[in-house]
Parts: sequence; C-alpha cells; structure tokens
Amino acid sequence: MRVLVVEDEPALAFRLQQVLEAAGFAVDVAYDGEDGWHLGDTEPYDAIVLDLGLPKIDGVTVLQRWREAGRTAPVLILTARSRWSDKMAGFNAGADDYLTKPFEMDEVIYRLRALIRRAAGHAQPELVCGPLRFDSNSGRVTIDGLPVQLTAQEFRILAYFLHHPGRIISRTELMEHVYDRLFESDSNSLEVLLGRVRRKVGAGLIRTVRGQGYVLAEPEAG
Ligand code: CA
Repeated sequence: MRVLVVEDEPALAFRLQQVLEAAGFAVDVAYDGEDGWHLGDTEPYDAIVLDLGLPKIDGVTVLQRWREAGRTAPVLILTARSRWSDKMAGFNAGADDYLTKPFEMDEVIYRLRALIRRAAGHAQPELVCGPLRFDSNSGRVTIDGLPVQLTAQEFRILAYFLHHPGRIISRTELMEHVYDRLFESDSNSLEVLLGRVRRKVGAGLIRTVRGQGYVLAEPEAG
C-alpha cells in the first residue's frame, strides 16, 4: 500500500513519513499544494493525507481538482482549524475523513487503514484468503493461526494482494503500490520479492497468470 502525504510543516511531514513507513506503507511526501496536486494526479495512491493550509495551492482546491479529474483515492484531511466550516469545505471538495491538529499518530494509521480497506470493498478489518489471515488494523499476518514474519516490502506486497483477492494484478500495478517514487527498483527485484513472499505464505496462494500478472486466490482443491 502506497500513500501520499501533503504537508508543508517539515517536522510534521517527516514524522508522518516515519510513522507511516513503520506501519507498512510506502510513502511519498509533498511540501506544497502544487507538488501535492501533481503527484496525486499522476500516481495511483491507495490513500492521501492532505493538509488544508498549504503554500501555492490550498488543500481544498487541490482536492477539488483531483475529484474533478476523476481521482478517487480516499483522502484524509488535516486541519489546524477546528471550525466546522473548514471541515465542511473539505468534505464538500471530496474528503473522506478528517483529523484536527494536534492528533495522535496512531489515529492517522488506523484511519488510513480503514479508508483503504473500505475503498477496496472490505467492511471487516480482517482479510482472509484460504489459510491466510491479515488483520488490517494490527498488520498481523497468520497462516493456519501461526504468525508470518515479513519484511516491510514483503508486507506491502502481501497487503496489496489481500486487499484485492481474486483480481489479476499486473507487474506494473504491483510496483506502483509497493515502492515509493524515489525507490530505485526493477522488475527483477519485484520477482525476487514475490518469490520470498510465496515461500512464506505457501506457493499456491499467489499464482502467475502468463502475460497478465499475478493473482491471490485460494488453492483449488484436489
Ligand atoms: Ca499547513
């Protein structure tokens, strides 16, 4: 899962990036409305954290432009103001949720996880595929009840598959949701990563669909 943080206070942006990366997200950061708008318009984020008070283009305008252009990523707005009129302007522009500064870092994580799984069509926090269970709140992955230890990148790959079970996911799509934009990656490293995930969760769960990509599905019986 990959998220965008648009926040002009460097210390808060840095803290959000650290906390969200530790929680298993690939994170891109923009420090003004123009850069934030451009990234959100061109990259397929799973969710966006958007400050409202931003240099160059304000947050409400950024959000309006995304929505007018058909960008549907869930957006959590951050506002230093507690006035309802500011929050309402955010919702009218297409926000999905909001937090008023100052806020608990954990709350950002939990709200983002809920927004992402609802956007993927899941109402329950636990995502299940055969013996594989993923608690999207805690980030815990188990197979037949036993915990699976995953690196940050392995976790991101598996979380993306678990949010979209049964759907063929192309290599390009997978790379766009696993790596942040500054990460130097090639498709070979993705193959290596996928191989490691398959070894940890059982080879039958993530299948290669020739010429199209990969799909997470319950192994067929027999
Ligand atoms: Ca600000």
